[in-house]
Amino acid sequence: MTEEFKIYIDRLKGGLVQKIEGAFHPSFLEVNEEELQFEQPVAVRGEAYLTDDHLILHLSAKTFAEMPCSVCNKMIQAPLAIANFYHTEPFTEIRDAVYNFGPALREALLIEIPRTVECNQGKCTSRETIEPYMRPETRQETYFPFADFDLKE
Ligand SMILES: [Zn+2]
Repeated sequence: MTEEFKIYIDRLKGGLVQKIEGAFHPSFLEVNEEELQFEQPVAVRGEAYLTDDHLILHLSAKTFAEMPCSVCNKMIQAPLAIANFYHTEPFTEIRDAVYNFGPALREALLIEIPRTVECNQGKCTSRETIEPYMRPETRQETYFPFADFDLKE
């Protein structure tokens, strides 16, 4: 586990608030697909503190996801951000008084990934040339789950 994502519970006892601020390498997002990649650092700001029996994380984070434009397929950087994300973790779930907030941050960010993006701030210049040939039903990919079955057998 990355040192940077660790929160030491003992250091927060007595009402202390730990400031979290940094740029984290995107490898903790564990995403590397042809149509979804992260190359920019993930900028994180926030704080961590304790209640009677929970650790509270309050974070904002931003980065860019590399995704293909849904019209022209060019890879573009889509902004990805979470603001005022809260995560609570009961002490009973925290081992050895050290909490790694990487997985919670990862989950919060991945949920926010847009399904589709378009280059040129949503106005892909290829749209005009392609649109007359695109009917709504042909824009979606069609899956034939049994296409591999040989029914003649
Ligand atoms: Zn485009």
